Amino acid sequence: MKTLNQSDKDYLLKTIRDIKDFPKPGIIFKDITTLLGDAKAYNFLMDHLADRYQNEDIDFIAGIESRGFIFGAALAAKIGGCFVPIRKPGKLPYTTISEKYSLEYGVDEVEIHIDAFKCTKENPKVLLIDDLIATGGTATAAVSLINKAGATCVEACFLLNLTFLQGDEEIKKTTPVYSVLELD
Ligand code: AMP
Repeated sequence: MKTLNQSDKDYLLKTIRDIKDFPKPGIIFKDITTLLGDAKAYNFLMDHLADRYQNEDIDFIAGIESRGFIFGAALAAKIGGCFVPIRKPGKLPYTTISEKYSLEYGVDEVEIHIDAFKCTKENPKVLLIDDLIATGGTATAAVSLINKAGATCVEACFLLNLTFLQGDEEIKKTTPVYSVLELD
């Protein structure tokens, strides 16, 4: 597996745009649409993630709404895995399990279909994916949902970790964490 060197990381970092005071004053929002709009950078990132996970024992990739869908669905297609959406309340049509959590800016809830990980295998293995760790609340709630739905989260993967908020420490209590880029 190829690890990214500092110049690879700097290259990806430069494609992410900072939006000050969004969605409210004091927040610097990490805008990944600029990365997605750069075909070379987006492919470079997805190739790196595929390289990291393609030989791992992973049955499902669970993406957190909404930016986790973009990376998670693309990764699932690349490594031949199944994709499962973890969504905001009221979006999933079948019976759901839900979990409340705190955000960097507010309180929210995530849901998953009760049968999301139904497969012939007992205790399926899940890779969780999202764009960013802030407080770690969303991902911790998502790991809890994965467990409640009868699966095991083998790793939580993020593009960006805002290390100064130490959210990764919270997530690491429940599952290993990998972040492509770290910002302090
Ligand atoms: P948290 O639960 O605090 O770790 O927040 C992570 C979730 O909120 C992720 O789904 C992010 O997309 C979003 N988020 C939180 N803070 C930011 C930020 N500064 N820039 C972009 N997205 C953020």
